[in-house]
Amino acid sequence: IKLSRISDIQGKTLKEQEEAIQTANDNLKRLEKLRQQLIADISHELGTPMVAVQGYVKALLDGVIQPEEKYLRLIYDRVLTVNHLIKDLFLLSTYQANRNHFDHQQIDIDAFILSVEDKYAPECERSGIELEVFKGVDGSGSAQEEMIVWADPVRLDQVFENLVQNAIKFTGAGGSIQLTSEFQPKYEGARLGHWFVKISDTGLGISEEDIAHVFERFFRSKEAKARGIQGTGLGLAITKEIIQKHGGEIGVTSAPDEGTTFFFLIPAELIDKCENAQSKILG
Ligand code: ADP
Repeated sequence: IKLSRISDIQGKTLKEQEEAIQTANDNLKRLEKLRQQLIADISHELGTPMVAVQGYVKALLDGVIQPEEKYLRLIYDRVLTVNHLIKDLFLLSTYQANRNHFDHQQIDIDAFILSVEDKYAPECERSGIELEVFKGVDGSGSAQEEMIVWADPVRLDQVFENLVQNAIKFTGAGGSIQLTSEFQPKYEGARLGHWFVKISDTGLGISEEDIAHVFERFFRSKEAKARGIQGTGLGLAITKEIIQKHGGEIGVTSAPDEGTTFFFLIPAELIDKCENAQSKILG
């Protein structure tokens, strides 16, 4: 939402000035509504698990239930949810206020994707999900070249954590997840271009009605809630912020009951392998 500046009304006719002020007022009202909605969402999301914790602890104190493991676990899970929420909210607010320090480093994509595969393969196997990783040859097929991006490795890990964990959560046993990573040159033969990443699953899918909202703070589909799939609804909002802070873009396509594909692009380049090896030795 763009707020009017003084320059928006300077040198304009009275009618134009009135219109500019009206637009500024409308924008302010919209911002205020968003702010109120956000406070309502936060109170609701934090309040719901806390009410449950209060109920269990009261019942324990009153001797209505005994301190059995199942009740303690219920309490523990709710506290965990609240902690996640607070951590995610804090992250999101610092990203949006540009207060978060990003530590951009040169990242070798081949090595990074290998680490992603190592990290999530065991979890996929435990969940009965097949994980396939495709490293596209598009432009990066040359044996002498490798793709690098300038990015914050911790944030990049977080992007994959959110997207892959979602794919796992929303895909049952017997399903599969495909991770594609490739270099897309700006034009044929160019060494500058984009790192294109696609994470497709054969899971629950997202309805047409919901798809426009998945990147909004606190959005969780009715199916996710009904099936008791854990989440804060903040993961994708955070992911989008991180991608945008790296000069990139993120999108999604989905078909209910067939699966979902999240994809993102961030600026990348191809460099000579020996050049990279040298810079690593030299530090
Ligand atoms: P969370 O996963 O914590 O609920 P997210 O912001 O990561 O929050 O996701 C928001 C919502 O988007 C999810 O609740 C779900 O409805 C939908 N969603 C995200 N990823 C997928 C996926 N891979 N398949 C189906 N739905 C998804």
